[in-house]
Amino acid sequence: MPHCNDPIHLQKNLKIREAFAKRFPGQTLNEGVSLLPVNYYNFRISGMKNKWVVGLGCETAGAYSNEYNLIGGKSETKCFLCDITREVKEEIKKDVRNLHNCPFIFINRTVVFLYEVVGWSRAPINEAIRKDNQNPSLPHCMKEMSEVEWFTIDGKQLEGRSYPLSSYSQLLFKQLNKFNPGYFDRVFRKQ
Ligand SMILES: [Zn+2]
Repeated sequence: MPHCNDPIHLQKNLKIREAFAKRFPGQTLNEGVSLLPVNYYNFRISGMKNKWVVGLGCETAGAYSNEYNLIGGKSETKCFLCDITREVKEEIKKDVRNLHNCPFIFINRTVVFLYEVVGWSRAPINEAIRKDNQNPSLPHCMKEMSEVEWFTIDGKQLEGRSYPLSSYSQLLFKQLNKFNPGYFDRVFRKQ
């Protein structure tokens, strides 16, 4: 696959690699990439306070089959931005933009973009996923997830349903716990 020539992408890729080298000297950055949709969830129910939630997808196959995992995959072109844009489209059918402005963290030596979403809701995403999964002419890469769910930052499904988390997701919540309280407020509201 051709490498990316977008100078804004190249600059962000470099920034990510430099941040990793500084934070984890001597270690090797995984050639994979993930994206975490971060949503300030509006309950639209009186008395319920808005809260930060993150989106995970249920894997249809592989090592994390039937577990809720971060969206993403291998970095095939070595441009984290191009690759995660493609993965998000394939896995949850959404377009992501302006990733060069997007904050990122490292989980298990993999870069994870923290992508604030506004107006994403589960039902239409899951309907689009179901449609693709039932289409016999689409390749497997379009069928890697069966649905998305919101999880609170302590790793619980939003409505309290018990859903299995992948080991990678468990590391994510451990990390978010360390950053808390008020982590996403600081990241996205600049408080
Ligand atoms: Zn690129």
